[in-house]
Amino acid sequence: MATVNICEASKSFGAVNVLHGVSIDIADGEFVILVGPSGCGKTTLLRMLAGLESISDGEIRIGNQVVNSVPPKHRDIAMVFQNYALYPNMTVAENMSFSLRLRRTAKSEIETRVNAAAQALDLMPLLGRYPRQLSGGQRQRVAMGRAIVRDPQVFLFDEPLSNLDAKLRVAMRAEIKRLQQRLKTTTVYVTHDQIEAMTMADKIVVMHDGLIEQSGAPLELYDRPANLFVAQFIGSPAMNIFPGKIGINGTPSVLAGGLVVPVDFAPMGSEGREVICGFRPEHIRIDDDGFVVEVGVVEPTGSETQVVVRAGAQEFTCLFRERVQARPGDIIRIRADPNKVHLFDPKTGQRLS
Ligand code: ATP
Repeated sequence: MATVNICEASKSFGAVNVLHGVSIDIADGEFVILVGPSGCGKTTLLRMLAGLESISDGEIRIGNQVVNSVPPKHRDIAMVFQNYALYPNMTVAENMSFSLRLRRTAKSEIETRVNAAAQALDLMPLLGRYPRQLSGGQRQRVAMGRAIVRDPQVFLFDEPLSNLDAKLRVAMRAEIKRLQQRLKTTTVYVTHDQIEAMTMADKIVVMHDGLIEQSGAPLELYDRPANLFVAQFIGSPAMNIFPGKIGINGTPSVLAGGLVVPVDFAPMGSEGREVICGFRPEHIRIDDDGFVVEVGVVEPTGSETQVVVRAGAQEFTCLFRERVQARPGDIIRIRADPNKVHLFDPKTGQRLS
């Protein structure tokens, strides 16, 4: 196990800069997930950690050793890829033991480690099979097993679940999390999947255009997004946002056209100040004293109802944890929980608090 420190790391491919001085400190045994839109540099950063991509500037330390020029095989890390990258002509057992055989580990030691990993991953009955004789989920587990037997200092995962169907993804998510908690191996994991990030990570790092927008515990990012980008990136359905002005008539509110959205907090002396106001779909309820909206699309899922409503030119998505009888064209009144309204500076996008 080891700490990982990424210090002002930059990466250019020719004249194109894709990472601009990124710093992340990862504690021993921590599970860190990198998220961000396509092309923001997640995979590049992971490959730099693995040693598969050079570092243009800055420093990467694994267990306090600077690894900038250490080749991949000497970094003591194991990477699990999206496509699993199993050797088709080797059995499951051979795939899992390959790296140990390369290192000339004693046969008895190899057997002990492969059996322990196979047991943990429920692969014992499959050890003699070839990859083509396995399901997607089983292949995924073999790829994990191959990483585990090496007992590396760090695990790197590049979207390991993206080729699985939704049900398997949920099962493997829990399995990876359980294994990581048991092994306590420092882990860096790249995903597109918000739920994966929210449920598995100790710390989420939100990247955008080769920079870090915010990093922190999943609920910290959800509760107190540092800026508009994170506010809209974390949470599903996405946070509703709209421009308005602070009005303080008795209670502080955000005013936008005919809309009045009470807020628990308004910056001192901010009356008349322009802001971007945000609230999450799940923090809206139907309320006779709320503002008037017209119902658009209604999507019941059984346990909850997602409703898109309109107030003037503004559309909001609402997520009600109940069945709502509204139909398109109905007029209802809604209110956002005043203590869950977020305010941002319209120029910088930074949180006001
Ligand atoms: P995705 O979520 O789509 O996988 P990502 O966040 O992992 O995206 P990267 O794959 O790290 O993004 O790519 C970051 C940027 O670097 C992209 O603009 C990509 O086109 C560019 N890039 C990646 N590898 C190379 C390369 N070998 N040569 C030139 N440009 C590259």
